[in-house]
Amino acid sequence: METINGVGVSPGRVIGPVLQMPPPVQEPAPSEKLDPEQTVDQETQRLKTAATAVQAELKSRAATATGDAVGVLEATSQMAADPMLLKAAGNFISTQQHSAERAVWDAGEQVAETLKGLGGYMAERAADVLDVRARIVAELRGMPAPGIPVSDTPFILAAQDLAPADTATLDPAVVVGLATSSGGPQSHTAILARALGLPAAVAARGVDRIADGSEVYLDGATGEVITSPDDVLEAKVQTWREQSASLTAFEAPATTADGHHVPLLANVGNPEDAAAAAAAGAEGVGLLRTEFCFLGRDTEPDHQEQVEQYRAIFDAFAGCKVVIRTLDAGADKPLPFLTNTDEPNPALGVRGFRTDMTSPGVLERQLTAIAAAAEGSEAEVWVMAPMISTRDETAAFAALCRANGLKTPGIMVEVPSAAVVAGQLLEKADFASLGTNDLTQYTMAADRQVGELAGLNDPWQPAVLRLVDMTVDGGKAAGGQHPKPVGVCGEAAADPALAVVMAGLGVSTLSMTARALGTVATVLKSVTLSEAQDIAAEAAAQPTAAATKEAARSRLPVLDELGL
Ligand code: PEP
Ligand code: MG
Repeated sequence: METINGVGVSPGRVIGPVLQMPPPVQEPAPSEKLDPEQTVDQETQRLKTAATAVQAELKSRAATATGDAVGVLEATSQMAADPMLLKAAGNFISTQQHSAERAVWDAGEQVAETLKGLGGYMAERAADVLDVRARIVAELRGMPAPGIPVSDTPFILAAQDLAPADTATLDPAVVVGLATSSGGPQSHTAILARALGLPAAVAARGVDRIADGSEVYLDGATGEVITSPDDVLEAKVQTWREQSASLTAFEAPATTADGHHVPLLANVGNPEDAAAAAAAGAEGVGLLRTEFCFLGRDTEPDHQEQVEQYRAIFDAFAGCKVVIRTLDAGADKPLPFLTNTDEPNPALGVRGFRTDMTSPGVLERQLTAIAAAAEGSEAEVWVMAPMISTRDETAAFAALCRANGLKTPGIMVEVPSAAVVAGQLLEKADFASLGTNDLTQYTMAADRQVGELAGLNDPWQPAVLRLVDMTVDGGKAAGGQHPKPVGVCGEAAADPALAVVMAGLGVSTLSMTARALGTVATVLKSVTLSEAQDIAAEAAAQPTAAATKEAARSRLPVLDELGL
């Protein structure tokens, strides 16, 4: 048995065989020529053979797939044999003596650009061409096909790291756990794993070297990955299975022991999440990450498509509050129609609300679509902007919302400047929502995706708690008799002990993955409001993250009773 210690990011224990995520296909060197031993005809034939093999592989996957995947796989398999692609690649081989790999790479680029130029449905296919091109290059090199491995039986996916778009396509019936050698606890991969209820560990150095097929034990709470698991570990998995069902049950309203209501809302990324969150009893949506509806898209979704997505989510929460966030693209959530992937430091670049500077119009069109979806829906729609840093940005966003008929504009507090002057910002907006994932990353200057910085990137850091406190105070200062609501929608809200601290600091709502509702409600119910306030004051006065956590946990014996 070998133990690899990572950082647990999504609780759950599972045993299963590992399959490694193949590395992304690297671009062939621009000068890569065909082998001097090969003729142009032979190289062209090599290309065709590879393309046919890719087509056959995709076709056979389509034959066994279900749901939307069938159409996608069939369309992609057609593309592998697309005459336009193969002809363009053949030309590069014959006129420039390029290797088949380089030729199909350039041809794919050319075809994708042409499709993008056509716009609409055709432009959407550009990403498929680039996928097919990568598959053909992998086939030519004798390497495994890129993307999530295909298997008929459940497995634990191991990888160096995953793009959020890969994580979003995981099927939890087949992928039963996730372990990455890099990645941080608040990365979007970790957030999506939690939303899917997949046990996951990040920063588990060495998991990317475990051989395919090896059995491992994965504990998504402790972050342990243990090879060749024994009966003791088997029993731990069994206990988890029995316990987890009771921990996830939630019945609204969530209150402290003395009846103080702290609405527990859900973080959702698409209509399916919203339906699951509604079924889990969430009291509303505290964060609708609209960019998750459109990950992997090359072009801006049109009005109708946006209205349909948002409306489906609003309808799942008729009569409840739904806080919708405008597109938060950038850093690890690039959207090609909004973000420039060449920025030297994307987390500090043109992301979130800032993309309105570089892609004017997208935000306004999104607000128009949100207003259209809200019109006639029974949800109480609030709108907020991500990555707000200044009062001018707040005022500009609020004005744009109101001009589009959206009456409750708010801001995410994710940048320390916004927390420090929250009172001034909230004179211009109706509410704030603390994005503790980014607030922690920017306060500690620690990239949330870097596993090595997990210790710094911890929302228990005293500096982060002080900024939460300042934001709540800002809400009181700006609201006077009626404090402006300040909620939390970062991952901190899903940590039951930290949720109690947040409630004690005075946040009005907590928004989290629907799977955390039951545990957070149970722990909240174990204290009165004044006990939560005492716990928060004591925790916030500590000098280190470990001490704040310990101060809170030691006052919450229910955590140990529940094994949390
Ligand atoms: C956050 O930063 O805490 C947040 C909720 O936004 P996201 O995780 O999508 O960046
Ligand atoms: Mg954020």
